[in-house]
Amino acid sequence: MPALWDLPDFDAHESVHMFDDPKTGLRAVIAIHSTHLGPAAGGTRFWHYADQQAALTDALRLSRGMSYKNAMAGLAAGGGKAVILADRQYSKPQELLDAFARAVDSLGGRYITAQDVGMSEDDMVTLSKNTRHVAGLPGQGGDPGPYTARGVYLGVKAAAKRALGTDDVRGVHIAIQGVGSVGGGLARYLAADGAKLTLADVNAERATALAAELGAQTVASDSIISVEADIFSPCALGAILTDTSVAGLKIKAVAGGANNQLATSAQGQQLADRGIVYAPDYVINAGGIINVLRHVDNADDAAINARIDTIPGRLHQIWEESEASGDTPAEVADRMAQRLIGR
Ligand code: NAD
Repeated sequence: MPALWDLPDFDAHESVHMFDDPKTGLRAVIAIHSTHLGPAAGGTRFWHYADQQAALTDALRLSRGMSYKNAMAGLAAGGGKAVILADRQYSKPQELLDAFARAVDSLGGRYITAQDVGMSEDDMVTLSKNTRHVAGLPGQGGDPGPYTARGVYLGVKAAAKRALGTDDVRGVHIAIQGVGSVGGGLARYLAADGAKLTLADVNAERATALAAELGAQTVASDSIISVEADIFSPCALGAILTDTSVAGLKIKAVAGGANNQLATSAQGQQLADRGIVYAPDYVINAGGIINVLRHVDNADDAAINARIDTIPGRLHQIWEESEASGDTPAEVADRMAQRLIGR
């Protein structure tokens, strides 16, 4: 195994903490990428990894992602992430969560945790009994989905302005992949503005019911990405923009809420080469984290909404810098985030 410092994802993490508690079986990594802007904030993932190396790599990669996301959201928070190495059965006894909470607490607030894959709101409540460094507890803002949806809606309008010359989306055709919490909320905002919508979801009933309510069309979930429209809005899975799918896009802009939309950085270039406007995912989908971290500086709903309102401005800044520099919007966003965290 290479030394920690030599791992490609190490990227000058401020610190990486490995916890091993034989009494409870807890094995966890807490990676702190940056505290330049404030305490490192990012969720805890509870996952069964193929090996320890995979767990460490995931923690490092996700932690750097949180640094960038929180910085670009204008939050007084750095970036970090925790992973708990689950067993094959995903058993999660309370003693294990208690031991993890003590691990979080031992960092004295340099790391603030929140919910991620495999962790529930109830788990967050359990953690909060042994550490106060937990964000997104019940009564602290609730479900992030509606806030993410509102930010994505504003970002879609910004993309329309950039690609079509107007942010009035009346009659603009938008294809939405995935109509769950984020995509469904987005569809409702856009329908209220008179946009023409095509919806798809692997849960076909969900898409059909929403389409009936909003007067939209539906297509099969495997063909939404090649629908001829003005804007494609991915709101389901990551890594959907591949060589093949980008080559088949029949739209002028991609703007959606899904995380990690580009399969690799090459697709950022491919979109640019095709003249397709791309809204970097972690910039457009920051509404949820803006809400989850509201207690870091006691922000109220008005302050949260004001922060979400800055998403279109950030996107325009990225697109302008991209045009001036010749770098892709994804590269520009990373560079802006690095500047903000003092790197
Ligand atoms: P969700 O589970 O509520 O909705 C996702 C929807 O996508 C579901 O209806 C699901 O059936 C559908 N889906 C799954 N695979 C699909 C496919 N191949 N084609 C079409 N539809 C498919 O999840 P969500 O909270 O709306 O999150 C959607 C995306 O946004 C995820 O990538 C998530 O990581 C990202 N995101 C969410 C938030 C948030 O606040 N909820 C914040 C940031 C990013």
